[in-house]
Amino acid sequence: MKIDTVILGGGIAGLSVAYHLKNKKYVILEKEHLVGGLCKSVTDKNGFIYDYTGHLLHIKSKYVKKLVRKLLKKNLALKNRNSWIYSNNVFTRYPFQANLFGLPEKIIYECIEGFVEAKLLNSQFSILNSQFCFYDWCLKTFGNGISKYFMIPYNEKLWRIDIKKLTCDWLGNYVPQPTLQEVITGAFTDNNKKIGYNATFFYPKMGGIQSLIDELKKNIPGIKTDVKISSIDISKKIVKTNSGEMKYKNLVSTIPLPEIVKLIKGVPENVKKASKKLKWTSVLNINLGIKRKNISNKHWIYFPEKKFNFYRAGFYRNFSESLCPEGTSSMYIEISYRNRKTSKEKMLKKTIGKLKSAKILKSSDKIISECILDIPYAYVIYDKNRKSSLETIRNYLRKNFIFSIGRFGGWKYSTMEDAILEGKETTKWLK
Ligand SMILES: Cc1cc2nc3c(=O)[nH]c(=O)nc-3n(C[C@H](O)[C@H](O)[C@H](O)COP(=O)(O)OP(=O)(O)OC[C@H]3O[C@@H](n4cnc5c(N)ncnc54)[C@H](O)[C@@H]3O)c2cc1C
Repeated sequence: MKIDTVILGGGIAGLSVAYHLKNKKYVILEKEHLVGGLCKSVTDKNGFIYDYTGHLLHIKSKYVKKLVRKLLKKNLALKNRNSWIYSNNVFTRYPFQANLFGLPEKIIYECIEGFVEAKLLNSQFSILNSQFCFYDWCLKTFGNGISKYFMIPYNEKLWRIDIKKLTCDWLGNYVPQPTLQEVITGAFTDNNKKIGYNATFFYPKMGGIQSLIDELKKNIPGIKTDVKISSIDISKKIVKTNSGEMKYKNLVSTIPLPEIVKLIKGVPENVKKASKKLKWTSVLNINLGIKRKNISNKHWIYFPEKKFNFYRAGFYRNFSESLCPEGTSSMYIEISYRNRKTSKEKMLKKTIGKLKSAKILKSSDKIISECILDIPYAYVIYDKNRKSSLETIRNYLRKNFIFSIGRFGGWKYSTMEDAILEGKETTKWLK
């Protein structure tokens, strides 16, 4: 079969390419039974709808806002973020660095003292100064206290590597940098000022994040699911699958870079080597349905302390009541891992115990639904090898007319909005 554009992977990036190709001849090849990738939702037998952890639409681009509105129409709500940090047995508002209010006095003073000291010592310091590792950047930007109580432990838990090995290339505006005045105000008053890129978000009123995918999909006829790609012959421009061969003019790949490198026949040694240097973390997403309404009024909570095995937990009902049956609540809990040795069952048991110790769950709570979703590729690790390895692999792919995009095709820290925009942009390059 001869096709203009073959798109590998039916996550939101792949779907966006197809959507923007409009009437051109293309096909999406997806290995799973359903498209959507990380933006899928699962409905369990009790009627709980779980996303692959919270998937909230933080949209900056006018184009994406318009598109999402066009697709979801009235099925879209705008929410004001209500997110918190749980540490030292208290809840403080997100972001930690701008909301110390509520913490023990000693910690507040330690954080402010460190922040002021950092500002005095590093007034010339800039994020663009890429010689710093993330650990040093935290100390120079926030000082000792904020780094010790949040930045270092939280990020070690999320990335699962020594954060002295993490570069600052991923930061963008993901980590809010408050002014001294904002830090002081937030230390002595319960300040609800919205700081950071995700202060508001859109979310579907019904159906979880899957409803965005379902709407997108309606405009995309050329989808093949349950496809096993066995190899890619770049010289003949052929993709071989369990159901036959496909000859392409353009190949767009949204599958993880280490996976495409394995599929291409005759990959040069330097590309194989570069691929082996890529690092990432996985996430175990534990979802729980609880027979109690309103277990929390918050959207999500960060857990920086080591004693908790998870780094974040969120409450679906506060995104949309449609995600839980009447009289119940539900949660997602995110546990980052690399080379997991503990069984899922043990992690589940430990997680429930820890949620009780933080008084998020009561000992009398009845858990009526458990759904564990594994996310093997979750966060790309930005270490010293990432940039050069990525360059080697992507140069090779581009030379062979393969456009590798999306979170894991582009090997980056990115959002659903980024994936939509990149998919659209890519179509400009296709013949
Ligand atoms: C824990 C977590 C929370 C997040 N929260 C948010 C959020 O709140 N807001 C936000 O905007 N973004 C969030 N993101 C990021 C967002 O999920 C991604 O940026 C976006 O979904 C990436 O889309 P993609 O199409 O690039 O990748 P994916 O969704 O990973 O899609 C890739 C597709 O390729 C398929 N595939 C893989 N290998 C093969 C193969 N060999 N053959 C065929 N198909 C294959 C996969 O099955 C998948 O469908 C979050 C990510 C994670 C991990």
